[in-house]
Amino acid sequence: MKKLAEVLQDWEAVIGLEVHTELTTLETKMFCNCRLSHDDEPNANVCPVCLGLPGALPVPNKKAIESIVMAGLATNCQIMRHSMFYRKHYFYPDMAKNFQTTQGPVAFCMHGNLELEVRGAGAAERPDFAYTTATGEKIEQAEDGSYTVPIRILRIHMEEDAAKMVHVGGTEGRITAATESLIDYNRCGTPLIELVTEPDLRTPEEARLFMETLQQTFRTLGISDCSLEKGSMRCDGNVSLRRRGSTKLGTKTEMKNMNSFKSLHDALEYEICRQAEVLEEGGIIYQETRHWEPAHKRTVVMRVKETADDYRLFPDPDLAPFDLSDEFIAACARRIPELPRQKRDRYVADYALKQADASQIAADLASASLFEKCVELVEARAIPTVANVLVNLLPGYDVSEPQQVASLAELLYSDAITFAQAREVLDAITGTTIDPVKVVDERGMRQTTDVDALQAIVDEVLARSTDQVQQYQNGNTKVIGFLVGQCMKASKGTGNPKLFNQLLVQSLSQ
Ligand code: ADP
Ligand code: MG
Ligand code: ZN
Repeated sequence: MKKLAEVLQDWEAVIGLEVHTELTTLETKMFCNCRLSHDDEPNANVCPVCLGLPGALPVPNKKAIESIVMAGLATNCQIMRHSMFYRKHYFYPDMAKNFQTTQGPVAFCMHGNLELEVRGAGAAERPDFAYTTATGEKIEQAEDGSYTVPIRILRIHMEEDAAKMVHVGGTEGRITAATESLIDYNRCGTPLIELVTEPDLRTPEEARLFMETLQQTFRTLGISDCSLEKGSMRCDGNVSLRRRGSTKLGTKTEMKNMNSFKSLHDALEYEICRQAEVLEEGGIIYQETRHWEPAHKRTVVMRVKETADDYRLFPDPDLAPFDLSDEFIAACARRIPELPRQKRDRYVADYALKQADASQIAADLASASLFEKCVELVEARAIPTVANVLVNLLPGYDVSEPQQVASLAELLYSDAITFAQAREVLDAITGTTIDPVKVVDERGMRQTTDVDALQAIVDEVLARSTDQVQQYQNGNTKVIGFLVGQCMKASKGTGNPKLFNQLLVQSLSQ
Protein backbone atom coordinates (compact mmCIF):
# COMPACT_ATOMS: atom_id res chain seq x y z
CA MET A 1 0.00 0.00 0.00
CA LYS A 2 1.05 3.58 -0.65
CA LYS A 3 1.82 5.90 2.22
CA LEU A 4 -0.74 8.47 3.43
CA ALA A 5 1.22 11.47 2.14
CA GLU A 6 1.39 10.00 -1.34
CA VAL A 7 -2.30 9.00 -1.40
CA LEU A 8 -3.41 12.47 -0.32
CA GLN A 9 -1.61 14.04 -3.26
CA ASP A 10 -4.12 12.44 -5.65
CA TRP A 11 -7.11 11.79 -3.41
CA GLU A 12 -9.05 13.93 -0.98
CA ALA A 13 -10.04 12.09 2.20
CA VAL A 14 -13.51 13.01 3.51
CA ILE A 15 -14.08 12.16 7.16
CA GLY A 16 -17.10 12.53 9.44
CA LEU A 17 -17.32 11.46 13.08
CA GLU A 18 -20.17 10.20 15.25
CA VAL A 19 -19.26 10.65 18.89
CA HIS A 20 -21.20 9.10 21.77
CA THR A 21 -20.64 10.53 25.23
CA GLU A 22 -22.16 9.12 28.41
CA LEU A 23 -23.15 11.81 30.90
CA THR A 24 -21.21 10.11 33.66
CA THR A 25 -21.38 12.98 36.14
CA LEU A 26 -25.16 12.65 36.62
CA GLU A 27 -26.66 10.87 39.61
CA THR A 28 -29.46 9.03 37.85
CA LYS A 29 -30.41 7.44 34.53
CA MET A 30 -32.14 9.13 31.58
CA PHE A 31 -35.76 8.10 32.10
CA CYS A 32 -35.89 6.63 35.64
CA ASN A 33 -34.32 7.43 38.97
CA CYS A 34 -32.06 4.38 39.13
CA ARG A 35 -28.57 5.19 40.38
CA LEU A 36 -26.10 5.87 37.58
CA SER A 37 -23.18 3.61 38.42
CA HIS A 38 -21.72 0.90 36.21
CA ASP A 39 -19.37 -0.53 38.80
CA ASP A 40 -21.98 -1.88 41.19
CA GLU A 41 -22.95 -5.54 41.36
CA PRO A 42 -24.54 -6.52 38.01
CA ASN A 43 -28.23 -5.62 37.75
CA ALA A 44 -28.23 -3.77 41.08
CA ASN A 45 -29.44 -0.51 39.53
CA VAL A 46 -32.58 -1.48 37.67
CA CYS A 47 -36.31 -0.77 37.81
CA PRO A 48 -39.42 -1.45 35.68
CA VAL A 49 -38.62 1.52 33.40
CA CYS A 50 -35.05 0.56 32.42
CA LEU A 51 -36.02 -3.12 32.30
CA GLY A 52 -38.82 -2.24 29.87
CA LEU A 53 -41.58 -3.90 31.90
CA PRO A 54 -45.08 -3.35 30.48
CA GLY A 55 -46.82 -0.21 31.69
CA ALA A 56 -43.69 1.48 33.08
CA LEU A 57 -43.57 5.16 32.11
CA PRO A 58 -40.41 7.18 31.40
CA VAL A 59 -39.69 10.61 32.93
CA PRO A 60 -36.87 12.63 31.29
CA ASN A 61 -33.91 13.61 33.46
CA LYS A 62 -33.80 17.42 33.60
CA LYS A 63 -30.12 17.51 34.51
CA ALA A 64 -29.32 15.48 31.38
CA ILE A 65 -31.15 18.04 29.24
CA GLU A 66 -29.15 20.79 30.96
CA SER A 67 -25.95 18.92 30.11
CA ILE A 68 -26.78 18.53 26.42
CA VAL A 69 -27.81 22.18 26.13
CA MET A 70 -24.48 23.18 27.70
CA ALA A 71 -22.69 20.89 25.23
CA GLY A 72 -24.59 22.55 22.38
CA LEU A 73 -23.84 26.08 23.55
CA ALA A 74 -20.14 25.29 24.00
CA THR A 75 -19.98 24.00 20.40
CA ASN A 76 -21.87 26.96 18.90
CA CYS A 77 -25.04 24.98 18.13
CA GLN A 78 -28.51 26.41 17.78
CA ILE A 79 -30.58 25.21 20.71
CA MET A 80 -33.92 24.03 19.35
CA ARG A 81 -36.82 25.31 21.43
CA HIS A 82 -39.09 22.47 20.32
CA SER A 83 -38.04 18.84 19.86
CA MET A 84 -39.29 15.32 20.50
CA PHE A 85 -38.17 11.90 21.64
CA TYR A 86 -38.49 9.04 19.18
CA ARG A 87 -38.41 5.26 19.39
CA LYS A 88 -35.76 3.45 17.34
CA HIS A 89 -36.78 -0.20 17.18
CA TYR A 90 -34.49 -3.18 17.17
CA PHE A 91 -34.44 -6.60 18.78
CA TYR A 92 -31.45 -7.45 20.95
CA PRO A 93 -31.32 -8.32 24.65
CA ASP A 94 -29.19 -5.27 25.53
CA MET A 95 -32.38 -3.16 25.42
CA ALA A 96 -35.29 -4.95 27.05
CA LYS A 97 -37.87 -2.47 25.68
CA ASN A 98 -36.89 -3.52 22.13
CA PHE A 99 -36.42 0.11 21.22
CA GLN A 100 -33.96 2.83 22.10
CA THR A 101 -35.37 6.21 23.02
CA THR A 102 -33.58 8.81 20.94
CA GLN A 103 -34.42 11.98 19.00
CA GLY A 104 -35.88 12.46 15.53
CA PRO A 105 -34.97 14.88 12.77
CA VAL A 106 -34.85 17.79 15.20
CA ALA A 107 -32.31 17.35 18.01
CA PHE A 108 -31.86 19.57 21.06
CA CYS A 109 -28.74 21.02 19.39
CA MET A 110 -28.36 21.66 15.65
CA HIS A 111 -25.77 23.20 13.32
CA GLY A 112 -22.76 24.05 15.45
CA ASN A 113 -19.07 24.15 14.78
CA LEU A 114 -15.78 23.64 16.51
CA GLU A 115 -12.51 25.28 15.50
CA LEU A 116 -9.51 23.01 15.25
CA GLU A 117 -6.03 24.35 15.74
CA VAL A 118 -3.82 21.93 13.88
CA ARG A 119 -0.18 22.21 14.90
CA GLY A 120 3.05 20.31 14.97
CA ALA A 121 3.98 17.36 12.80
CA GLY A 122 0.32 16.38 12.21
CA ALA A 123 -0.38 19.67 10.43
CA ALA A 124 1.71 18.45 7.50
CA GLU A 125 -0.86 15.70 6.77
CA ARG A 126 -2.90 18.27 4.80
CA PRO A 127 -1.19 18.50 1.41
CA ASP A 128 0.27 21.90 0.55
CA PHE A 129 -2.33 22.75 -2.09
CA ALA A 130 -5.41 21.73 -0.07
CA TYR A 131 -5.78 24.55 2.40
CA THR A 132 -9.46 25.33 2.02
CA THR A 133 -12.36 24.53 4.35
CA ALA A 134 -15.13 22.11 3.37
CA THR A 135 -17.19 25.11 2.29
CA GLY A 136 -14.41 26.41 0.08
CA GLU A 137 -12.95 29.22 2.17
CA LYS A 138 -9.22 29.68 2.19
CA ILE A 139 -7.36 28.54 5.31
CA GLU A 140 -4.44 30.70 6.41
CA GLN A 141 -1.35 28.65 7.08
CA ALA A 142 1.29 29.92 9.52
CA GLU A 143 4.99 29.80 8.71
CA ASP A 144 5.47 26.63 10.75
CA GLY A 145 2.65 24.91 8.83
CA SER A 146 -0.01 25.16 11.56
CA TYR A 147 -3.52 26.22 10.63
CA THR A 148 -7.01 26.71 12.08
CA VAL A 149 -10.04 25.11 10.45
CA PRO A 150 -13.73 25.21 11.45
CA ILE A 151 -15.52 21.84 11.48
CA ARG A 152 -19.29 21.95 11.21
CA ILE A 153 -21.40 19.93 13.62
CA LEU A 154 -24.67 18.63 12.17
CA ARG A 155 -26.38 17.88 15.46
CA ILE A 156 -26.13 16.69 19.05
CA HIS A 157 -29.06 14.57 20.16
CA MET A 158 -30.10 12.95 23.41
CA GLU A 159 -30.47 9.20 23.74
CA GLU A 160 -29.84 6.36 26.16
CA ASP A 161 -27.18 3.68 26.41
CA ALA A 162 -27.93 -0.05 26.20
CA ALA A 163 -27.03 -2.79 28.72
CA LYS A 164 -23.58 -4.31 28.81
CA MET A 165 -23.29 -7.85 27.47
CA VAL A 166 -20.62 -10.26 28.62
CA HIS A 167 -19.95 -13.19 26.30
CA VAL A 168 -18.49 -16.12 28.21
CA GLY A 169 -16.36 -18.93 26.84
CA GLY A 170 -15.50 -17.47 23.45
CA THR A 171 -12.31 -15.78 22.36
CA GLU A 172 -11.63 -12.10 23.08
CA GLY A 173 -15.03 -11.76 24.77
CA ARG A 174 -16.78 -11.72 21.38
CA ILE A 175 -20.09 -13.48 20.85
CA THR A 176 -18.64 -15.83 18.23
CA ALA A 177 -17.96 -19.21 19.87
CA ALA A 178 -19.23 -18.00 23.26
CA THR A 179 -21.09 -20.63 25.26
CA GLU A 180 -23.32 -18.19 27.07
CA SER A 181 -24.02 -14.46 27.24
CA LEU A 182 -24.73 -12.45 30.40
CA ILE A 183 -26.47 -9.10 30.55
CA ASP A 184 -25.83 -6.31 33.06
CA TYR A 185 -28.63 -3.72 32.91
CA ASN A 186 -26.83 -1.23 35.18
CA ARG A 187 -25.67 0.64 32.08
CA CYS A 188 -29.06 0.42 30.36
CA GLY A 189 -30.71 3.86 30.30
CA THR A 190 -27.49 5.81 30.91
CA PRO A 191 -27.93 9.32 29.48
CA LEU A 192 -25.96 9.50 26.25
CA ILE A 193 -25.42 12.36 23.85
CA GLU A 194 -24.49 11.72 20.23
CA LEU A 195 -22.67 14.36 18.26
CA VAL A 196 -22.54 14.01 14.47
CA THR A 197 -20.14 16.11 12.41
CA GLU A 198 -20.56 17.17 8.82
CA PRO A 199 -18.01 15.38 6.59
CA ASP A 200 -15.57 18.28 6.99
CA LEU A 201 -12.45 16.59 8.31
CA ARG A 202 -9.69 15.96 5.80
CA THR A 203 -6.86 14.16 7.61
CA PRO A 204 -6.54 11.53 10.36
CA GLU A 205 -4.81 14.14 12.51
CA GLU A 206 -7.79 16.49 12.19
CA ALA A 207 -10.11 13.68 13.30
CA ARG A 208 -7.88 12.90 16.28
CA LEU A 209 -7.68 16.56 17.22
CA PHE A 210 -11.44 17.00 16.90
CA MET A 211 -11.97 14.23 19.46
CA GLU A 212 -9.32 15.67 21.74
CA THR A 213 -10.84 19.15 21.55
CA LEU A 214 -14.30 17.77 22.20
CA GLN A 215 -13.03 15.77 25.16
CA GLN A 216 -11.43 18.88 26.69
CA THR A 217 -14.60 20.88 26.13
CA PHE A 218 -16.96 18.30 27.66
CA ARG A 219 -14.61 17.70 30.60
CA THR A 220 -14.47 21.42 31.27
CA LEU A 221 -18.27 21.54 31.22
CA GLY A 222 -18.20 18.76 33.80
CA ILE A 223 -20.77 16.68 31.92
CA SER A 224 -18.69 13.50 31.49
CA ASP A 225 -15.36 11.93 32.37
CA CYS A 226 -14.97 11.30 28.61
CA SER A 227 -12.81 8.19 28.92
CA LEU A 228 -12.10 6.46 25.62
CA GLU A 229 -10.53 3.52 27.45
CA LYS A 230 -13.53 2.98 29.73
CA GLY A 231 -15.94 3.64 26.89
CA SER A 232 -17.70 6.67 28.33
CA MET A 233 -16.66 8.45 25.11
CA ARG A 234 -16.84 6.42 21.90
CA CYS A 235 -16.29 7.36 18.34
CA ASP A 236 -17.20 5.97 14.92
CA GLY A 237 -15.10 7.23 12.03
CA ASN A 238 -16.64 7.49 8.55
CA VAL A 239 -14.29 7.94 5.62
CA SER A 240 -14.44 8.06 1.85
CA LEU A 241 -12.11 9.20 -0.91
CA ARG A 242 -12.63 11.34 -3.98
CA ARG A 243 -10.27 12.58 -6.67
CA ARG A 244 -8.77 15.95 -5.92
CA GLY A 245 -10.98 18.63 -7.44
CA SER A 246 -14.12 16.46 -7.39
CA THR A 247 -17.02 17.64 -5.23
CA LYS A 248 -19.05 14.43 -5.34
CA LEU A 249 -18.89 12.30 -2.18
CA GLY A 250 -17.45 8.82 -2.55
CA THR A 251 -18.79 5.68 -0.86
CA LYS A 252 -17.81 5.63 2.81
CA THR A 253 -16.85 2.93 5.23
CA GLU A 254 -17.46 3.23 8.96
CA MET A 255 -14.89 2.25 11.57
CA LYS A 256 -15.90 1.01 15.00
CA ASN A 257 -13.96 0.03 18.09
CA MET A 258 -11.53 2.87 18.36
CA ASN A 259 -10.74 3.22 22.02
CA SER A 260 -7.86 5.65 21.88
CA PHE A 261 -6.90 8.77 19.96
CA LYS A 262 -4.09 6.82 18.37
CA SER A 263 -6.43 4.06 17.20
CA LEU A 264 -8.72 6.63 15.61
CA HIS A 265 -5.81 8.22 13.79
CA ASP A 266 -4.19 4.97 12.71
CA ALA A 267 -7.44 3.29 11.64
CA LEU A 268 -8.33 6.25 9.43
CA GLU A 269 -4.82 6.36 7.99
CA TYR A 270 -4.95 2.65 7.18
CA GLU A 271 -8.44 2.88 5.72
CA ILE A 272 -7.56 5.84 3.48
CA CYS A 273 -4.59 3.94 2.07
CA ARG A 274 -6.64 0.75 1.66
CA GLN A 275 -9.44 2.55 -0.19
CA ALA A 276 -6.94 4.26 -2.48
CA GLU A 277 -5.44 0.91 -3.40
CA VAL A 278 -8.86 -0.62 -4.15
CA LEU A 279 -9.93 2.38 -6.25
CA GLU A 280 -6.66 2.63 -8.13
CA GLU A 281 -6.92 -1.02 -9.09
CA GLY A 282 -10.36 -0.31 -10.54
CA GLY A 283 -12.28 -1.88 -7.66
CA ILE A 284 -15.23 -0.46 -5.76
CA ILE A 285 -15.70 0.46 -2.10
CA TYR A 286 -18.66 -1.18 -0.38
CA GLN A 287 -20.56 0.75 2.25
CA GLU A 288 -19.63 -1.38 5.20
CA THR A 289 -18.79 -1.29 8.87
CA ARG A 290 -15.21 -2.22 9.64
CA HIS A 291 -13.40 -3.10 12.81
CA TRP A 292 -9.93 -1.78 13.69
CA GLU A 293 -7.47 -4.41 14.88
CA PRO A 294 -4.67 -2.48 16.60
CA ALA A 295 -2.50 -5.59 16.97
CA HIS A 296 -2.47 -6.17 13.20
CA LYS A 297 -2.76 -2.51 12.26
CA ARG A 298 -5.57 -3.17 9.82
CA THR A 299 -9.34 -2.87 9.48
CA VAL A 300 -11.55 -5.89 8.74
CA VAL A 301 -15.18 -6.10 7.62
CA MET A 302 -17.75 -6.49 10.40
CA ARG A 303 -20.92 -6.21 8.37
CA VAL A 304 -22.15 -4.77 5.11
CA LYS A 305 -24.44 -1.86 5.82
CA GLU A 306 -28.18 -2.25 5.34
CA THR A 307 -29.28 -0.02 2.45
CA ALA A 308 -32.04 1.62 4.49
CA ASP A 309 -32.32 1.67 8.25
CA ASP A 310 -35.34 -0.37 9.22
CA TYR A 311 -35.71 1.01 12.69
CA ARG A 312 -39.33 2.21 12.33
CA LEU A 313 -38.46 5.53 13.90
CA PHE A 314 -41.57 7.27 15.30
CA PRO A 315 -42.37 9.79 18.07
CA ASP A 316 -42.56 8.18 21.50
CA PRO A 317 -46.19 8.40 22.65
CA ASP A 318 -45.08 8.10 26.29
CA LEU A 319 -42.96 11.26 26.17
CA ALA A 320 -44.51 14.65 25.53
CA PRO A 321 -42.84 16.95 22.97
CA PHE A 322 -40.16 18.98 24.65
CA ASP A 323 -40.26 22.76 24.87
CA LEU A 324 -37.24 24.59 26.21
CA SER A 325 -37.78 28.09 27.58
CA ASP A 326 -35.41 30.99 26.98
CA GLU A 327 -34.89 31.16 30.75
CA PHE A 328 -33.82 27.51 30.88
CA ILE A 329 -31.32 28.03 28.06
CA ALA A 330 -30.00 31.24 29.64
CA ALA A 331 -29.53 29.40 32.94
CA CYS A 332 -27.53 26.69 31.13
CA ALA A 333 -25.40 29.38 29.46
CA ARG A 334 -24.60 30.91 32.85
CA ARG A 335 -23.32 27.56 34.10
CA ILE A 336 -20.72 27.25 31.34
CA PRO A 337 -17.27 27.80 32.85
CA GLU A 338 -14.34 29.36 31.05
CA LEU A 339 -13.50 27.03 28.14
CA PRO A 340 -9.93 25.95 27.28
CA ARG A 341 -9.66 28.36 24.33
CA GLN A 342 -10.78 31.36 26.36
CA LYS A 343 -8.45 30.34 29.15
CA ARG A 344 -5.53 30.08 26.76
CA ASP A 345 -6.19 33.52 25.30
CA ARG A 346 -6.37 34.99 28.80
CA TYR A 347 -3.04 33.38 29.75
CA VAL A 348 -1.38 34.82 26.66
CA ALA A 349 -2.86 38.28 27.20
CA ASP A 350 -2.42 38.54 30.97
CA TYR A 351 0.80 36.63 31.60
CA ALA A 352 2.61 36.85 28.26
CA LEU A 353 2.84 33.06 27.98
CA LYS A 354 3.89 31.46 24.72
CA GLN A 355 0.79 30.38 22.77
CA ALA A 356 1.84 26.72 22.76
CA ASP A 357 2.55 26.66 26.52
CA ALA A 358 -0.75 28.42 27.24
CA SER A 359 -2.67 25.94 25.06
CA GLN A 360 -1.14 22.95 26.75
CA ILE A 361 -1.81 24.24 30.27
CA ALA A 362 -5.34 25.43 29.49
CA ALA A 363 -6.27 22.12 27.87
CA ASP A 364 -6.21 20.23 31.14
CA LEU A 365 -8.21 21.21 34.22
CA ALA A 366 -5.64 19.95 36.70
CA SER A 367 -2.70 21.74 35.14
CA ALA A 368 -4.70 24.96 34.64
CA SER A 369 -5.67 24.94 38.29
CA LEU A 370 -2.08 24.28 39.41
CA PHE A 371 -0.84 27.06 37.14
CA GLU A 372 -3.32 29.57 38.52
CA LYS A 373 -2.41 28.72 42.10
CA CYS A 374 1.28 29.23 41.30
CA VAL A 375 0.53 32.56 39.66
CA GLU A 376 -0.64 33.80 43.07
CA LEU A 377 2.64 32.75 44.65
CA VAL A 378 5.32 34.16 42.35
CA GLU A 379 6.26 37.64 41.21
CA ALA A 380 4.67 38.62 37.90
CA ARG A 381 7.86 38.39 35.84
CA ALA A 382 8.42 34.77 36.85
CA ILE A 383 5.01 33.60 35.57
CA PRO A 384 6.24 32.49 32.12
CA THR A 385 8.86 30.42 33.97
CA VAL A 386 6.05 28.72 35.91
CA ALA A 387 4.53 27.79 32.55
CA ASN A 388 7.88 26.54 31.33
CA VAL A 389 8.21 24.35 34.43
CA LEU A 390 4.70 22.93 33.99
CA VAL A 391 5.14 22.13 30.31
CA ASN A 392 8.78 21.08 30.10
CA LEU A 393 9.89 19.87 33.53
CA LEU A 394 7.00 18.46 35.56
CA PRO A 395 5.76 15.67 33.25
CA GLY A 396 6.95 12.39 34.69
CA TYR A 397 7.29 13.73 38.23
CA ASP A 398 4.79 13.42 41.06
CA VAL A 399 4.89 17.06 42.08
CA SER A 400 1.63 18.95 42.32
CA GLU A 401 1.97 21.26 45.34
CA PRO A 402 1.67 24.87 44.10
CA GLN A 403 4.24 25.99 46.68
CA GLN A 404 6.84 23.52 45.38
CA VAL A 405 6.25 24.41 41.75
CA ALA A 406 6.28 28.14 42.46
CA SER A 407 9.50 28.01 44.40
CA LEU A 408 11.18 25.87 41.72
CA ALA A 409 10.11 28.43 39.11
CA GLU A 410 11.55 31.29 41.19
CA LEU A 411 14.86 29.46 41.63
CA LEU A 412 15.06 29.09 37.86
CA TYR A 413 13.88 32.59 37.13
CA SER A 414 16.46 34.16 39.44
CA ASP A 415 19.19 31.99 37.85
CA ALA A 416 19.93 30.39 41.20
CA ILE A 417 19.83 26.98 39.49
CA THR A 418 20.00 25.74 35.91
CA PHE A 419 17.41 23.69 34.04
CA ALA A 420 19.54 20.58 34.48
CA GLN A 421 19.76 21.20 38.22
CA ALA A 422 15.99 21.69 38.35
CA ARG A 423 15.65 18.07 37.26
CA GLU A 424 17.94 16.99 40.09
CA VAL A 425 15.73 18.97 42.49
CA LEU A 426 12.61 17.29 41.05
CA ASP A 427 14.19 13.87 41.51
CA ALA A 428 14.68 14.76 45.16
CA ILE A 429 11.20 16.14 45.85
CA THR A 430 8.99 13.89 43.72
CA GLY A 431 6.27 12.29 45.80
CA THR A 432 7.12 14.46 48.82
CA THR A 433 6.23 17.93 50.10
CA ILE A 434 9.87 19.01 50.52
CA ASP A 435 10.55 22.63 49.56
CA PRO A 436 12.92 22.84 46.55
CA VAL A 437 14.81 25.67 48.29
CA LYS A 438 15.78 23.25 51.03
CA VAL A 439 17.24 20.76 48.52
CA VAL A 440 19.16 23.49 46.72
CA ASP A 441 20.66 24.85 49.96
CA GLU A 442 21.46 21.47 51.46
CA ARG A 443 23.25 20.33 48.35
CA GLY A 444 25.00 23.67 47.82
CA MET A 445 23.53 23.90 44.33
CA ARG A 446 22.99 27.62 44.31
CA GLN A 447 24.74 29.24 41.38
CA THR A 448 27.11 32.12 41.91
CA THR A 449 25.54 35.21 40.45
CA ASP A 450 28.25 37.49 41.84
CA VAL A 451 29.37 39.15 38.60
CA ASP A 452 32.85 40.13 39.81
CA ALA A 453 33.67 36.59 40.87
CA LEU A 454 32.41 35.21 37.55
CA GLN A 455 34.27 37.85 35.53
CA ALA A 456 37.51 36.76 37.16
CA ILE A 457 36.90 33.21 35.95
CA VAL A 458 36.01 34.44 32.46
CA ASP A 459 39.22 36.44 32.25
CA GLU A 460 41.22 33.45 33.35
CA VAL A 461 39.59 31.11 30.81
CA LEU A 462 39.98 33.58 27.96
CA ALA A 463 43.65 34.10 28.79
CA ARG A 464 44.38 30.39 28.30
CA SER A 465 42.09 29.77 25.31
CA THR A 466 43.85 31.79 22.63
CA ASP A 467 42.85 29.37 19.84
CA GLN A 468 39.15 29.61 20.61
CA VAL A 469 39.32 33.37 21.02
CA GLN A 470 40.93 33.55 17.58
CA GLN A 471 38.19 31.34 16.09
CA TYR A 472 35.52 33.53 17.66
CA GLN A 473 37.11 36.64 16.24
CA ASN A 474 37.10 34.93 12.82
CA GLY A 475 33.34 34.60 13.02
CA ASN A 476 32.91 31.12 14.53
CA THR A 477 30.62 32.22 17.36
CA LYS A 478 29.78 28.61 18.19
CA VAL A 479 33.01 28.25 20.20
CA ILE A 480 31.23 30.22 22.91
CA GLY A 481 29.69 26.90 24.00
CA PHE A 482 33.13 25.46 24.59
CA LEU A 483 34.18 28.55 26.53
CA VAL A 484 31.07 28.44 28.73
CA GLY A 485 31.91 24.81 29.43
CA GLN A 486 35.45 25.79 30.49
CA CYS A 487 34.06 28.49 32.78
CA MET A 488 31.60 26.03 34.34
CA LYS A 489 34.47 23.62 34.95
CA ALA A 490 36.65 26.31 36.44
CA SER A 491 33.84 27.35 38.78
CA LYS A 492 33.20 23.68 39.70
CA GLY A 493 29.64 24.02 38.45
CA THR A 494 28.68 26.85 40.75
CA GLY A 495 28.74 29.56 38.09
CA ASN A 496 25.62 30.42 36.14
CA PRO A 497 25.97 29.39 32.47
CA LYS A 498 23.66 32.14 31.24
CA LEU A 499 25.71 34.78 33.03
CA PHE A 500 28.97 33.23 31.83
CA ASN A 501 27.65 33.40 28.31
CA GLN A 502 26.81 37.10 28.66
CA LEU A 503 30.13 37.96 30.24
CA LEU A 504 32.07 36.03 27.59
CA VAL A 505 30.30 37.77 24.73
CA GLN A 506 30.90 41.13 26.38
CA SER A 507 34.59 40.45 26.98
CA LEU A 508 35.13 39.09 23.47
CA SER A 509 33.54 42.07 21.76
CA GLN A 510 35.62 44.64 23.65
P1 ADP B 1 -25.22 6.67 8.19
O1 ADP B 1 -26.66 6.77 7.83
O2 ADP B 1 -24.45 5.66 7.45
O3 ADP B 1 -24.97 6.65 9.67
P2 ADP B 1 -24.95 9.48 8.07
O4 ADP B 1 -25.44 10.23 6.91
O5 ADP B 1 -25.76 9.44 9.31
O6 ADP B 1 -24.58 8.03 7.64
O7 ADP B 1 -23.52 10.07 8.42
C1 ADP B 1 -22.76 9.56 9.45
C2 ADP B 1 -21.42 10.29 9.46
O8 ADP B 1 -20.73 10.02 8.27
C3 ADP B 1 -21.52 11.79 9.54
O9 ADP B 1 -20.49 12.26 10.39
C4 ADP B 1 -21.28 12.25 8.13
O10 ADP B 1 -20.66 13.51 8.11
C5 ADP B 1 -20.34 11.20 7.61
N1 ADP B 1 -20.48 10.96 6.17
C6 ADP B 1 -21.62 10.87 5.45
N2 ADP B 1 -21.34 10.60 4.16
C7 ADP B 1 -19.99 10.50 4.06
C8 ADP B 1 -19.08 10.23 2.99
N3 ADP B 1 -19.50 9.97 1.76
N4 ADP B 1 -17.78 10.20 3.28
C9 ADP B 1 -17.33 10.42 4.52
N5 ADP B 1 -18.13 10.69 5.55
C10 ADP B 1 -19.44 10.73 5.33
MG1 MG C 1 -25.52 7.39 11.46
ZN1 ZN D 1 -34.38 2.22 36.16
